[in-house]
Amino acid sequence: MGRQGWFDVVSHIGQSSAPLYGVKVSHFLTKRRALVVWACAALLFVLAWWWRTGSMAAPDRVLSPLARRTIRTSSPPMQRVRGEFVRVYATNAVMASAILDEAEFSIGEISRRLGVAGSKRPVRILLLGDFELIQREGFRPDSLAINFGDEIFLKDDAGQLARPDRVTHELVHFVLREAYGSQIPLWLDEGLAARLGLAVSKSYRASRGRRVTGRRPGLSADRMDTLEVLTRRHTLPDDPEDAAVFYRASEELVGIIEDSIGTSRMPAYIAEVAEGEDWRAALNARLDGSPLINVSLEEAVRKRVTSQRDF
Ligand SMILES: [Zn+2]
Repeated sequence: MGRQGWFDVVSHIGQSSAPLYGVKVSHFLTKRRALVVWACAALLFVLAWWWRTGSMAAPDRVLSPLARRTIRTSSPPMQRVRGEFVRVYATNAVMASAILDEAEFSIGEISRRLGVAGSKRPVRILLLGDFELIQREGFRPDSLAINFGDEIFLKDDAGQLARPDRVTHELVHFVLREAYGSQIPLWLDEGLAARLGLAVSKSYRASRGRRVTGRRPGLSADRMDTLEVLTRRHTLPDDPEDAAVFYRASEELVGIIEDSIGTSRMPAYIAEVAEGEDWRAALNARLDGSPLINVSLEEAVRKRVTSQRDF
């Protein structure tokens, strides 16, 4: 018998009337042909398996082990939606699409306002009903969102849903980290995330014909750090109430700086501080003798922290 291969098998299958043409028909199930049939069946099985796993929500090979575990153990199973810059994982496909739409809009807007190039890699957002798995990894028990590498874990609960800036806040952290690594001081990172996160969230909703309003209540500033301490912190205060004051004071300090030097000069200011310049020296260099030099910055921050503010 001559060389037999795939095409031989196909041609013989189609040759039920082959003897009419004088073609010699050998017995179909020779050992060699059986081997080819089995090989084809195995190939089909592998392709089917590949197609099935490819349609599930966990084909993202760059996901961290933690993200993989949360997806694998999620019940009900997670759905994935993907855009140009963002991938979203959530059990609710409608919610996943809504987050994707907002995040795709916001990530470009945040990069533009921070004056940095867009991230080269997509960001992955995971919306989790069960946040305990994450918190068992040693994160703060009062964490509502966790942001590291190219992954953002959001807690899926009603209180968080009501926050208009929950997605944009975390995206500001992501964009800053992609641009500057870990060089951004904590106060500037959180202050920008709060201020810019809210501004971009409002822009997004305005672009969809919606308007966001809300209120930041005044907080007690009795336990507010001095600006020296606040701007040197690498970690949040342990006490959740002190942490809330830290967040708010950071946001107000960034607000005062932006109001003083102008929005257009913020990107260069942020870049300079990220490169290691003292935040106050970089600020004074941009004040051009404006009155802020002569007022107590700390008093101004304290006053804004204790005041209720509508947005
Ligand atoms: Zn934050």
